[in-house]
Amino acid sequence: MSEKKEFKTETKRLLDLMINSIYTNKEIFIRELVSNASDAIDKYHYLSLTDEAVEKVDNYEIRISLDKENRTLTISDNGIGMTKDELENHLGTIAKSGSLEFMKKMEDNNDTDIIGQFGVGFYSAFMVCDKVVVDTLSPYSNQAYRFTSDGTDSYYLDEISKDSVGTEITLYLRENKEDENYDEFLDQFKIKRLIKKYSDYIRYPIKMNMVYTHPQYDDNQNKTGEETEIKEEILNSMIPIWKKNKSEVKEEDLISFYKQKFNDYEDPLLSMHINVEGNITYNALVFIPGVAPYNLYSDKFEKGLQLYTKSVFIMDKCKDLVPDYLRFIKGLVDSADLSLNISREILQQNKQLAKISSNIEKKVISELEKLLKNDYNKYLTFFDNYGLNIKYGIYESYGAKKELLENLLVYQTLNNESKITLKEYVNHMKEDQKVIYYASAKNKEQLLAMPQLDALKKHEYDCLILSDDIDEFLMSIMNKYNDIEFKSINQGDLDLLTDEEKDNIKKIEDDSKNLLGKIKEALSNEVSDVVISKRLVDSPVCLVSGEGLSFEMEKVLKQMPNQNEMKASRILEINANHDLFKAIEKISDNDDLIKDYALLLFDQALLMEGLEIKNPVEFSNRMCKLMILCAK
Ligand code: ADP
Repeated sequence: MSEKKEFKTETKRLLDLMINSIYTNKEIFIRELVSNASDAIDKYHYLSLTDEAVEKVDNYEIRISLDKENRTLTISDNGIGMTKDELENHLGTIAKSGSLEFMKKMEDNNDTDIIGQFGVGFYSAFMVCDKVVVDTLSPYSNQAYRFTSDGTDSYYLDEISKDSVGTEITLYLRENKEDENYDEFLDQFKIKRLIKKYSDYIRYPIKMNMVYTHPQYDDNQNKTGEETEIKEEILNSMIPIWKKNKSEVKEEDLISFYKQKFNDYEDPLLSMHINVEGNITYNALVFIPGVAPYNLYSDKFEKGLQLYTKSVFIMDKCKDLVPDYLRFIKGLVDSADLSLNISREILQQNKQLAKISSNIEKKVISELEKLLKNDYNKYLTFFDNYGLNIKYGIYESYGAKKELLENLLVYQTLNNESKITLKEYVNHMKEDQKVIYYASAKNKEQLLAMPQLDALKKHEYDCLILSDDIDEFLMSIMNKYNDIEFKSINQGDLDLLTDEEKDNIKKIEDDSKNLLGKIKEALSNEVSDVVISKRLVDSPVCLVSGEGLSFEMEKVLKQMPNQNEMKASRILEINANHDLFKAIEKISDNDDLIKDYALLLFDQALLMEGLEIKNPVEFSNRMCKLMILCAK
């Protein structure tokens, strides 16, 4: 009895793309199907070790057979097979996100060349055939099934009899067209070459019966006929790429392995091939994807590396191999030192995993340091994508990872065009400069508009521009770099004045005690102090925060639930050299007017700081009052 089923919409779109693909590199379908077969055997093997219901076998293999008469190419495996539900869920629907992403990309720019870079999976078969038949039996089902599709809207499911667990996929190749040759996929030597090219590292033997014809001659060297010899051959070398010696593996092999295994069409930013022998022996391949996944910071993102032991696949995303802040790395670890029967719970506490994870962490960091030194532009691309993670690394560990990571931080600064490291900042500090200055701003423009920058500009000191929410928290956790303190330009005392200048300010403060007192009284609910500024040069006023919580932190915390009561202490600084101050001095006897001025000054300072003013209507009323006064 045949059941007819509809493909899901997305699947139809993908099928359509495949069938109509004008892509010349159609041969990659074989890579995709062989890799599925290999994954299926991985899964079977793992279950046979962990589930008693699954029989142990030791003759894993992938087979390819060609039938010229019927124009079919068949790939079979003795892997996990599929139940009826699995057939529907895995082949009737697009299983993996890679395919979806691929479709988007295809539809966006119609660049067919990207097919080869994607893991496009099962459906790629439709680039070369007009009918696919999948026969499959799962160890969890008593019934075998056949899935048949010609790539149109629907597929068929039939009950069949099949002796052994596994999957057999038969492709009915298309007829040749003028410039499209499908016969080549019936050529055994071509297939042999393709397997070598794309699937050499597959761990299971890929077998094919090769047919050789030997001409026969008589004593006079006349051809009398042909003898046919059929030889079963293993087409692949079966050494997984990560098990090979580093020197044998070219960078481009690693890159193409990455793209295929992790369904990425971009080259990775970094590829690492790690062979470690010693206390723990393992091989690992670690990659930093070219572009951060869009959901890297969402709860749904799953970090982890694939885990193998003795080349047997154990799990897809082993979290314990990756510290949280390196969640963006992809790759795999294969260690002979882990027990195969390890249950997932035990796995989680495995000390060896922790050790491997810490080795990998160090390796990744040292490779990043190298990149920073040798290819700074590429490093900046890395930092644009993942810099926030490095910051989290320091922050989350409460500074424990500061030494490991601080040299990877780069910041935009006042005096530099592109981002620089902290080391560079320190190397270029002025002789009399004692601290590393920073300010929170979206960009240089915003920084330049900050009144608090006046004093720094005068001294020509550089200033880090902090643009991530986490930055100020990070600075307060790091506290120092190479024993040099970090200092916010709008917090606390900047201490940039000569003794003479300090004396001068002290004198002004004494002289204006009465006036400052009145302003402070008018603002008693708003600020903790009103002082003569030691940092302002051109601007009339500014708001700074005391030590501890800063305005930036206040803004960030305000966005978080249950934190909105946290406030930075506010200090209003007045520029005694500004004409405005001189004007206020003149009206210092008029208490009402002073009060208005004080409130206006405060609101202005708030606005400049990017903070909200409490009462915009009152602010406007006061402005109007003054404007009218002025015009009289
Ligand atoms: P992917 O392999 O990347 O998940 P595919 O479209 O190639 O995407 O395959 C979809 C799913 O179909 C696989 O995830 C797997 O569950 C199932 N599948 C494909 N080929 C086989 C096979 N030979 N044996 C068992 N299951 C398979």
